[in-house]
Amino acid sequence: MAEQSEIMRVEAVVVGAGFGGLHMLHKLRELGIEARLIEAADDVGGTWHWNRYPGARCDVESVLYSYSFSPVIDAEWRWSQRYADHAEIKRYLQFVADRLDLRKHIRFNERVERAQFDDDRSEWVLTTSSGQAIAARFCIMATGPLTVGQLPDIPGRDEFAGTTYHSARWPQQKVDFTGKRVGVIGTGSSGTQLIPPVAEEAKRLFVFQRTANFTVQARNYPMTEAQHALWAENAGEMRVKMRANVITGAGDAFMTDEFRAHQQQDAHAFTPQERQAIFEERWRIGGGSTLMGAFRNVMTDEATNEIVSNFVRGKIREVVVDRQTAEDLQPSGFPIGAKRLCVGTDFYETFNRPNVELVNLRREPIVSITPTGIQTEARHIELDAIVFATGFDAMTGALTSIDIVGSSGRALREDWRDGARSYLGLTIHGFPNLLTIGGPGSPSALTNVVMANEQHVDFIGGLLAHLRAQGFTRFEASEAAQQNWATHCAAMAERTLFGRADSWYLGANVPGKPRVVLPYTGGFVPYREKCDAVASSAYDGFTMR
Ligand code: NAP
Repeated sequence: MAEQSEIMRVEAVVVGAGFGGLHMLHKLRELGIEARLIEAADDVGGTWHWNRYPGARCDVESVLYSYSFSPVIDAEWRWSQRYADHAEIKRYLQFVADRLDLRKHIRFNERVERAQFDDDRSEWVLTTSSGQAIAARFCIMATGPLTVGQLPDIPGRDEFAGTTYHSARWPQQKVDFTGKRVGVIGTGSSGTQLIPPVAEEAKRLFVFQRTANFTVQARNYPMTEAQHALWAENAGEMRVKMRANVITGAGDAFMTDEFRAHQQQDAHAFTPQERQAIFEERWRIGGGSTLMGAFRNVMTDEATNEIVSNFVRGKIREVVVDRQTAEDLQPSGFPIGAKRLCVGTDFYETFNRPNVELVNLRREPIVSITPTGIQTEARHIELDAIVFATGFDAMTGALTSIDIVGSSGRALREDWRDGARSYLGLTIHGFPNLLTIGGPGSPSALTNVVMANEQHVDFIGGLLAHLRAQGFTRFEASEAAQQNWATHCAAMAERTLFGRADSWYLGANVPGKPRVVLPYTGGFVPYREKCDAVASSAYDGFTMR
């Protein structure tokens, strides 16, 4: 550890300059708390800095995938698209950082490698890739749920002589696939978004699919003047509805009350014909994830889920011309939504192109990556480039990639060996004065993550103000409160269908990762109510001194 005299000392340090971190930094400044933010990249943006692959676009509507805390930002920013692409979202965060004058408090190009709690001083000491240290009473990890890319453990992976890419670490400069034979491994949200634009450029595109997923059409379009006017007039009211889960931003922001009429109703109250009409409207006009919100019980009732699943399976058969390809693209064996629903543009249509071929890895598994391509059990496919769209070590990866050592030398990696535990997804027993924005045990990426982050930032701001008002310098979640929260999270997950698919929600995509439903599945509204109750009871479940 660096000599005490060399260490920069502030009251709070924030790690990560994405949506959560930038807002947190602003909140700390509002509270008069001296703070620094450490960011590994050379700019703000968080996940939108790194995930700049062709086609990368948000699946929450832009107006609601934006900060609600600043009337100035709202007034001065205008989204161009219904669903903004990665570049526009990054420009938005750059605008926010400049408008709120945040950059002077950010240290870029420094990756936090270690964070150690000093019990005597009740402060965190962070060491970064620059070799510098920074000490802070409070450490807030805004490191994001989808940060650390996951590479598949395929023999020969590093021997490929062509170029390789990972969707979550895309180069800054444009990648040109013109005239190239390209292989894409992975058909989750990232793969299904990047496959259509890559297919337009590449000479040949081979899509290596292990598990067929459900993909819906985003139905993206430029924002209309009428929508801009509606938003300017009703932003406050729409956000209140969003926080109450009346609207989600997953395609329904500008839909009428009539469109939403049956959302709180049971699917079984409708005839098959009525349901079909509702689904068709959502497929053609609503787009995005509106299908999932057609009825209230899609993620809790197996029969309803199967009805929605069958509707999408039918759409795949309708769109894809080649019969075998259409069958290979049929998702089966897990409920729709239990793996994150993919929202894209013309994913299934892309398989009608003569230069695109689906390689079904259930029939011909990958044996190895060779210097010139991919060897399956059936053949060798010659390639010039391989794109790994193989996902993330989600929700915990960014935290466990930092050597976090809490009170009495307790290591987070050890602590979470059998599964991540936290109190409210906000803080961890044994790690005093440490906070996580969107940590495991919070709704995070299962809901509109910008909204979820704002709720965390507000909670943390309230907690720090409370500590200061009471003259406390140290807090910690009690073990009992953490255990109760874990029990509650598990009970909530049991009531849903999320446990029924091998997805990143459970850590199932990372070999050896304990299988635990990571995000809180009980819903944003009950979650927020629980946090509010904790705050208004002078922070029940926290010890303070
Ligand atoms: P993902 O959903 O985890 O998908 C990874 C894909 O790689 C899966 O198809 C997986 O197949 C495949 N794969 C992994 N290892 C493999 C192997 N060894 N061999 C063959 N295939 C392999 O990751 P993602 O697509 O990056 O998306 C992650 C999350 O990021 C999303 O769920 C979403 O929350 C977020 N995201 C959002 C957007 C958006 O807003 N529109 C865009 C991109 C990402 P299996 O299913 O068989 O494991």
